[in-house]
Amino acid sequence: MPELPEVEVTKLGIEPYVVGQAVSHLIVHDGRLRWPVPSHLKTTLQGQLCQAIHRRGKYLLFQFEHGVLIIHLGMTGVLRIQHRHEVPKKHDRVEIVFDEFALRLHDPRKFGAIWWHPQSQGPVEQLPMLARLGLEPLEPNFAGQLGGKHLHQVSRGRTIAIKQFLLAGHAVVGVGNIYCSESLFDARINPKTAAGKISEGRYMILAESIRKILLRAIAAGGSSLKDFVNSHGEPGHFMMQTKAYDRANLPCTICQRPIKQIKQTGRSTFYCATCQK
Ligand SMILES: [Zn+2]
Repeated sequence: MPELPEVEVTKLGIEPYVVGQAVSHLIVHDGRLRWPVPSHLKTTLQGQLCQAIHRRGKYLLFQFEHGVLIIHLGMTGVLRIQHRHEVPKKHDRVEIVFDEFALRLHDPRKFGAIWWHPQSQGPVEQLPMLARLGLEPLEPNFAGQLGGKHLHQVSRGRTIAIKQFLLAGHAVVGVGNIYCSESLFDARINPKTAAGKISEGRYMILAESIRKILLRAIAAGGSSLKDFVNSHGEPGHFMMQTKAYDRANLPCTICQRPIKQIKQTGRSTFYCATCQK
């Protein structure tokens, strides 16, 4: 499943080809995504200039003249830039055709989604699905001591485990399963600890760990930026070396004792019972 780093790298990869370009036309090969592609979209998008691309959590927000096109990649979605005359591949669902290039949504399992938010309905950030998202870990309001203070503040009284607290995405976005195990290992926090029991000082360390791990993943993906153009490959997760995730029974890089694997609400968690308290 594409996580925040993949979505951020997607944004960086397609931006130069899309921003400042006007839509020639829209082709819907198969609009039965997680929700049906809006039937008015062909007419709505035609001729509109893409002014900017923003990312909020795992949502890509394409700012057009009269509204925002929202794309979520779901489980298997990939956005790619290809020459507009290149023959579409199997599982290419939707393409936004510009002058020279086409932006193609390739999505074998069809859990991706495309919405249109007209300007007349107010700022896109106020949509419930965006408004309930936590802070962006890479934005200035999460940097320095701000991230730690925020996590500490919104976790008071919470008895759920820190793992689930982060994964829920209401306090901070982008800490998916892999990055959760990695950040908690980096901050030496046991994933089973109740979120409300963690001190402000430890949250400061955790916030820095989250930023560091996500930036590392984005940097690892940066090398695949060229894959967004005319690629026939299937870019998956970034090959980031992990210290805890997917390392069950391998020696901890700090204390050499075996990394443990447990399940928390159905998702695997990897941690060192000695180093993470
Ligand atoms: Zn250890």
